[in-house]
Amino acid sequence: MIYTVRGPIHKSELGVTLGHEHIKWEFDEYHANNMYFDKTYKQEEIETDLKVIVPILLDIKSKGGKSIVETSPPIGGQNVRLLKRLSDQTDLHIIPCTGWNLTKQLYEVFPNGFEVQLAKRWTKDFREGLDTIDGTVVRPGHIKLLLDKGTLSAVDKAMLVAAVKASNETGMPIHCHILEAKMVREVITVLDAENANYDKFLWAHADEEAHKETIKLAAEKGMWLGIDNVRKGTSVEKFELLSYIISIGYEDRVILSHDYDIYAEAVKSDYAQTCTVIFDEFIPYCSTMGIDREKIINLMTENPANFYDIT
Ligand SMILES: [Zn+2]
Repeated sequence: MIYTVRGPIHKSELGVTLGHEHIKWEFDEYHANNMYFDKTYKQEEIETDLKVIVPILLDIKSKGGKSIVETSPPIGGQNVRLLKRLSDQTDLHIIPCTGWNLTKQLYEVFPNGFEVQLAKRWTKDFREGLDTIDGTVVRPGHIKLLLDKGTLSAVDKAMLVAAVKASNETGMPIHCHILEAKMVREVITVLDAENANYDKFLWAHADEEAHKETIKLAAEKGMWLGIDNVRKGTSVEKFELLSYIISIGYEDRVILSHDYDIYAEAVKSDYAQTCTVIFDEFIPYCSTMGIDREKIINLMTENPANFYDIT
């Protein structure tokens, strides 16, 4: 099953999916913590946000989108009450997450057993739900991590290990933000040591550096690959990377998306349907270059359905 804010659905119901978007990033961690830990929300803010975000989601739907993966972790202010209302109003599926939920400095205070305790919390989120809304238990459909740049820090390594443990317990896949290709090798060392199931691990932002040698290594390991920053004016470079991945035989491991902060895009004065760039620019460009629309649509349907399916 795939776990959405309206409850579990069969993978065949998912449809064309944007696999990495942010409904509204929240910079106020106090507010974010209140939502995640205390289940307290700002009702008026939800009403205002709905007015801003619903039209954008309807744009996405009008272009053929059926599902969106929310990749703002709890500390980024994932608001499951807002997500549920958005999903109800637009009839789009939205897959929420658990994952990075506390300031990384806490590792300095509680290094012992950090991985085990975090894994327990994320497992509890799955078993008991992030919240229960109108009788619907909202379970996370994936675990979201954001690793910092540079060399892998002790806390990021601990979060990675925690994610593998929680994934093993629950079946939740891991959606892992890694901006620098060289870090992927460090991550592989950790995943190998944990005997992790690579079929449950997505390298989000594989397209950031588009480092082909590392992408090939990751794909051979069995990782999923995010070409998830398809923005206005990037079709040429994203097509080039997608073509490469197809040429080495891993098109069934690619997750496509824009990685927009949808709320932030919506309130920009020059908003001009940026959140549908994949449909408006990328797919037509691919068609002219020899990858037809059907193939991309199929990739955007089958791949997320396989990655987010929890059996
Ligand atoms: Zn993102």
